Parts: sequence; structure tokens; C-alpha cells
Amino acid sequence: MRILGLKEEMRRACGGAARPLGLVPTMGALHDGHLSLVGRCRDDCATVAVSIFVNPAQFGEGEDFAEYPRDLDGDLELLRRCGVDLVFVPGAAEVYPPGFDTWVDVGPVGERLEGAARPGHFRGVATVVAKLFGVVRPDRAYFGQKDGQQTVVVSKLARDLDLGVEVVVAPTVREGDGLAMSSRNARLNPEQRRAAPVLYRALAAGRGEWERGERDAGAICGVVRRVLDSEPLLGGIDYVSLAAPDTLEELVVAAPGAMLSAAAQLGVVRLIDNVMLE
Ligand code: AMP
Repeated sequence: MRILGLKEEMRRACGGAARPLGLVPTMGALHDGHLSLVGRCRDDCATVAVSIFVNPAQFGEGEDFAEYPRDLDGDLELLRRCGVDLVFVPGAAEVYPPGFDTWVDVGPVGERLEGAARPGHFRGVATVVAKLFGVVRPDRAYFGQKDGQQTVVVSKLARDLDLGVEVVVAPTVREGDGLAMSSRNARLNPEQRRAAPVLYRALAAGRGEWERGERDAGAICGVVRRVLDSEPLLGGIDYVSLAAPDTLEELVVAAPGAMLSAAAQLGVVRLIDNVMLE
């Protein structure tokens, strides 16, 4: 496994690597959700590249950039065991050198949901993903359904800018109690950790209404809210949404493929999760 910190050496390593080459972009503090993407990439591709970069551009003021969990040594050990070929670990000045001034704006799809709660977040995500694609030039890139809106944003970015990268979306990996795995879960205290699965329970209850024949989006979201409201440790519900899968516009009438998602604060952690209606 080669560990590279400079864009130029990463570009060279990728240029000479066996194809197809797959990229798994991450912010590190790796868990089984990340490793499922790596496994999928290894199954599909001759070369597996992983990036680890806590991207300052996607954190807003007052967000948890400084506190975001970091464990580079542990991450590299996990990636070594997974048979990864190339790891790109650039510093912030390597990604955003002095004079950097070009940003990728994906339009309205990046302004809803997470984008409304975190202004500028998807501008930061789209920009760093475009830059990683530029350095690595992957044939495929792997993203988790856990960050549902991010998969929509990145797919649109690849399509709109003709980047020639196939975006592959892999299912959300969950703990035994349903909580979606996330690097940020490490910042929950034991009591909050016990409460955290309420988010998935609420979304699953909403999906259950759909499966029983409910088609009114307001009614489905109402069920999700009621379950969330039953958990006193939740600090606040940012949104409950039932949205079209490609535009993320809110639906009035539920339809197959729609994304039911929610975000809520639990202690210092902002939890997000989603399920798809089938
Ligand atoms: P992050 O390090 O949080 O930026 O995540 C890197 C990639 O891993 C993103 O594509 C995430 O959607 C994905 N990911 C994070 N958590 C999970 C999970 N529990 N299941 C599947 N994919 C995940």
C-alpha cells in the first residue's frame, strides 16, 4: 500500500495503475461503513484508491471541524488489511493552496435539506470531490447511501461536468440496533448512544406507513416526527423530509424511490439518516 501526500505523486501513481481504478473518498476515522465501500471497490476494480481528507471547505463556522474525529494510524492499518493499493492523505494547503478561488456550485439540489441547515456545505463537498477526481482520474467512485443528499450532489456533479466517472452508491451500514455508522457517533456519550437509534426507528416507522398504503407525504413525515418527539434527549429536529430521489424536491404524494430523511441534534452530534421507499 502506497501512502501519498502530494497531488503530483498521487496523479503519477494513479496514471500508472491498473484499470479500472476505483476511488473511495473519506474524511477518515474509518468504520465498517467506509470499509464496505472499500470492499465493493476492491470487488469491482483492479486498483483501489482511498482518500483521507477532513475537508475544511465543507464545514461551516461553529461546526465541528476542529473536533472531527481523526485517527490516521488506525485508518492506515485498516486500509492495509483491506488490500488498498493507494491512499491519498493531502494536507489542507496541498488541496487549497494560496490563490485557490474556483468553486463548484451544484445549484438548488445542494441548497435543500442538509444544504439549508449547513449553507455552503455542498459547495465544499462538490469542490473537493471535483478536485479529487481531477487528481485521481478514477473510473468509478464509491459513496454511501448514509449521506443520501451527497450521493445526489456527486452524481449530478459527475454528469453536469462530464467528468467521466461512474458514481456507485452502496447501502448504509448500521449497528445492530439500527444506528447508521458514522465517525461522529464516537462523540456521543453512553446515554446519548443508547438514544441515537431513535432516528432510524422513526424513519423505519415512516417507511412502514408507506408499506401499509399511506401515500400522503405529510402523514408519513408526521409519523417520523412523532417517534422523534418521543425521545427527550434529542435537542431539536432540523427536518423530516420526503423528497424526489433526483431533485430532492419535497413531495406531496409519496412515490416509489422517494428518499425519507431526517436530521436531529443529539448532544454535540448532528445525526442524519435516510431510507428509500420501495
Ligand atoms: P465520511 O468519511 O463521513 O465523509 O464518509 C466517507 C464515505 O463513506 C461517504 O461516501 C459516506 O457516505 C460513506 N459512509 C459513511 N458512513 C457510512 C455508513 N454507515 N454506511 C455506508 N457508507 C457510509
